Amino acid sequence: MCKYTKAIEKLINIIESKYNFKVIKYCFDLPENIVGRIDYQKQLIMLNEPIAKEALMTLCHEFGHLISYIKYSDREQPPKPERERWAYLYGWEIICRYNLKNLISKQDWREHHKDEIKEIREYYN
Ligand SMILES: [Zn+2]
Repeated sequence: MCKYTKAIEKLINIIESKYNFKVIKYCFDLPENIVGRIDYQKQLIMLNEPIAKEALMTLCHEFGHLISYIKYSDREQPPKPERERWAYLYGWEIICRYNLKNLISKQDWREHHKDEIKEIREYYN
């Protein structure tokens, strides 16, 4: 098992046991250009990304959404750019917390989020 696959399995275990969300690694119901999505009502994280390192970053991103959703569950959810900003920040926190920085560098993380960062910048400017 490659180091990325191992890390994915570790995170899935945490998400399913600690947060009671289910993770589908290859969800064929996702639109073609979507590699990850979270459904809070169904308590489900769906992935569809064949490259292991990309899949790990996508999972960390969706985990970031989950953490921020729980943390701010008492308030109204903010608009999409703000939610993406949270996923970016809390996703990175997860990478640090579970010692995944040897697999995903800050540069990798930024590169993976270039579209979101652009969207966030446009929204706040
Ligand atoms: Zn997102």
